[in-house]
Amino acid sequence: MNIQLKTQGIAATRLLAGKVSLVTGSTSGIGLGIARALAAAGSVVVLNGLGAQPEIAKTRKQIEAEFGVGVGYSAADMTSREAIAEMIATAVASHGRLDILVNNAGIQHVAPLEQFPVEKWDAILSINLSSAFHTTRLALPAMRQNRFGRIINIASAHGLVASPFKAAYVAAKHGVVGLTRVTALETAEDGITCNAICPGYVYTPLVEAQIDGQAKAHGISREQVIHDVLLAQQPNKRFATVEELGALTVFLASDAAASITGVALPVDGGWTAH
Ligand code: NAD
Repeated sequence: MNIQLKTQGIAATRLLAGKVSLVTGSTSGIGLGIARALAAAGSVVVLNGLGAQPEIAKTRKQIEAEFGVGVGYSAADMTSREAIAEMIATAVASHGRLDILVNNAGIQHVAPLEQFPVEKWDAILSINLSSAFHTTRLALPAMRQNRFGRIINIASAHGLVASPFKAAYVAAKHGVVGLTRVTALETAEDGITCNAICPGYVYTPLVEAQIDGQAKAHGISREQVIHDVLLAQQPNKRFATVEELGALTVFLASDAAASITGVALPVDGGWTAH
């Protein structure tokens, strides 16, 4: 009994051995946490995102050493459909397969509608929504050929509900949830699933960047911003962690989640239960 449990434990930690994963926007925050979790589960991982090259090279080496899997990197800019096409083609050619695609790259801008910079609208729609359309359409042929695929879109609680001053972000994330459902329907008979994870607030550089701005705007302290502004809607009053999102992604990528598709799963401490 003990031996069996122990064996199951070992198997569970390498649940994704032999798989190849690509995570967009994985040089930081949630994407990096998800890439680490996939690597810990035994998957080869291709990282993507902006950042200083020495720092990215260090991250790759760290993940490789810690988890004993290959870690690649693509510098593809998610605003460029040509760069995205090259990234997917290279990933498939290098590894002969692409099993798990995590669409995570995203940016934020907060402004009232009348003052919302038009170029920010275009950039947010392009990085947060259109890039997922391009990666998905380009990854599907390899997934269909293997009759296995897992597409996991990192949407947001803002893919389910709105907040003021986030027009582009809320529109893009609602779009990601719609794209998730369509992808699930079109792939359901081919061993492929597509789901959206909808986090509330997770403490990452993207959120850190909002704290000082909000403190200035409201004339309050950072602590007040965290508790009274950011977590005001989040009933459990705590940030979700990148490790929690990594564990959920590994589960959705595993065989155990084969029947879960087309779902937009809130990880928001109860926010969207209001
Ligand atoms: P982050 O700023 O820490 O990371 C964003 C990642 O996207 C980075 O790796 C960055 O290099 C990459 N990126 C940005 N622009 C890019 C481009 N043009 N091309 C390629 N890569 C690009 O942010 P995060 O908080 O980890 O957010 C990750 C995702 O999670 C985003 O889609 C975000 O909307 C979503 N999300 C975050 C939270 C939160 O509270 N942090 C909540 C809900 C959803």
